[in-house]
Amino acid sequence: MNNPLLEPWSTPFGIPPFAEISDEDYAPALETALIEHDAEIAAIAENPAAPAFENTIVALEGAGAALDKVLSAFFAVAGADTNPKRQELQRDFSPKLSAHFSGIYANAALFARIEALWQTREEHDLGPEEQRLLKLTRRGFVRAGAALKGSDADRMREIKSRLSVLGTAFTQNLLADEAGWQMELSEDDLTGLPDFVKAPARAAGEERGADGPVITLSRSLIVPFLQFSARRDLRERAWRAWTSRGANGGETDNREIAREVLALREERAKLLGYDSFAAYKLETEMAGTPAAVRDLLTAVWEPAKAQALADQDALAALMQDEGVNGPLQPWDWRYYAEKRRKAEHDLDETALKPYLQLERMIEAAFDCANRLFGLEFKPLDVDLYHPDCRAWEVTRHGQHLAVFVGDYFARASKRSGAWCSAMRMQAKRPEVKTPIVVNVCNFAKPSKGAPALLSYDDARTLFHEFGHALHQILSDVEFGSMAGTSVARDFVELPSQLYEHWLEVPEVLKSYATHVETGEPMPQEMLDKVLKAANFDQGFQTVEYVASAMVDLEFHDGPPPADPMARQAEILQGMGMPEAIAMRHATPHFAHVFAGDGYSSGYYSYMWSEVMDADAFAAFEEAGGAFHAAMAEKLERFILSKGGSAEAEDLYVSFRGKMPGVDALLKGRGLAA
Ligand SMILES: [Zn+2]
Repeated sequence: MNNPLLEPWSTPFGIPPFAEISDEDYAPALETALIEHDAEIAAIAENPAAPAFENTIVALEGAGAALDKVLSAFFAVAGADTNPKRQELQRDFSPKLSAHFSGIYANAALFARIEALWQTREEHDLGPEEQRLLKLTRRGFVRAGAALKGSDADRMREIKSRLSVLGTAFTQNLLADEAGWQMELSEDDLTGLPDFVKAPARAAGEERGADGPVITLSRSLIVPFLQFSARRDLRERAWRAWTSRGANGGETDNREIAREVLALREERAKLLGYDSFAAYKLETEMAGTPAAVRDLLTAVWEPAKAQALADQDALAALMQDEGVNGPLQPWDWRYYAEKRRKAEHDLDETALKPYLQLERMIEAAFDCANRLFGLEFKPLDVDLYHPDCRAWEVTRHGQHLAVFVGDYFARASKRSGAWCSAMRMQAKRPEVKTPIVVNVCNFAKPSKGAPALLSYDDARTLFHEFGHALHQILSDVEFGSMAGTSVARDFVELPSQLYEHWLEVPEVLKSYATHVETGEPMPQEMLDKVLKAANFDQGFQTVEYVASAMVDLEFHDGPPPADPMARQAEILQGMGMPEAIAMRHATPHFAHVFAGDGYSSGYYSYMWSEVMDADAFAAFEEAGGAFHAAMAEKLERFILSKGGSAEAEDLYVSFRGKMPGVDALLKGRGLAA
């Protein structure tokens, strides 16, 4: 029997042939691909020819092509359409992959060739991208412990393998807690809720085989419920369930996992000679040091907290006017904030929602990319991993650039949140590759036949993820490992957060925010309110975010906590966390930090990027408008096409002429004094 994962893919543009792949194919394909990759690595390491850039560094870039194919298909389904079999495979694959890559980094003969090239780098006549690839390849080996010997090297391998297992368990526990909880409602309990909360609650009930509507822990369902339900008892129940994900005791509890992860990370950093895990982690970031991160968070925290405390008083007064006594609780905040927004901005989400059709917002994101970068999008009829997925071919002047896949609706088999991933990264050497980019979201799916409507937040998420997609689509570098979003973590959110600004351009909303029934554009008055309301409740938003970022930083800078929950409480107390606000992600469900290494001591990076996105969009405005052609050209030339082929700071300064301060950010959030 042939394994479709290992055959050449004759699908359009080499999209994984999902229709032919069965779950039984993944494990044997992975085994074969790992063996193949090992053989390729051995051939490079044992090459009798003297080390040269081409036969070592470029050869490494090209190795593992079969493995890339298997994993591109597998990770797509593991994240966005899992099932018990795929979860089992993931638990199986994760330590195998970790051991495989650790083995490559521990290959002494291979590292010796890389080190020899590094030491003689002046003699090899390398271009700037080649020099950078050599530097990053060597740094990757050193940071992975390639220079470690004996028992230190063994211990490093153990730590990495264990961390990978713990990361997968953390994610699966979270998924289990999310899938395992629902609050069944009667039709009476829905009284007063807008239709866009009622309909998905009914749909969720149907999907889960409940007798009536249910509220689940999906952000796109629970947040509107907390915002609109007048039933304080139900809000409290929902909020408590939502914020105790991963901390419910029993087999799915993540607290002990968090403790072990932090201890192992510290040990790993110390083995490599760093003061702390944060110091190790931040070395490769634009921020550079824990102190620089702390400075940024502190500069933003005080003005944000002052705003949040003033808002807390205003919301508590609203609540007391309704005859509810006692302090404002975290499950009250969104509900009274919505009332206040209605009173002060008269922006009613119920009235707004019919103007935010998913279809029109996709068109809006595409149209902005057309006006800025000349991109064109043509629907593609291909089989993907789920019938809800859609694909487009992206071209410019008739030339193929990429395939873009949108997977927009929430379902039980998809992990929560929204993300952008690539099933294939752009590259020119050793082989030309065009990107296949996926945006995954968790928008509430409408009942059959009804059009999908978004909240304003959802629309912003769509633009955000599409900004990441553009970073991949427009990538124009030599080597795949430096393509697209392969950049410093605190730089990667610049293109995505910057793109959110185009949703707020009045002419974009005017053209694309059209009423689902009448087709009328959003009235000017509503549009003005939407734009003004964008800054609403920024005290709350900034506080819940910065609290999470600070806990993440402090967890990794200094000795690891014996009891992370106690340490978390201590950090929040030290900051003077307002009582009616919870962290955006508390430790037991802080997947950014514990599901893998990606955002560990790196959650601050959204804000680091926001400092730049506020400043970068100001560059367009200063130049004469959101679609200023010369600025768009500069944005593509210096940032979107460059991936990680140069230092982030150099790229930004090339685009803007200087580095930004926090002023544009505070102004953008309405927090400037
Ligand atoms: Zn992002």
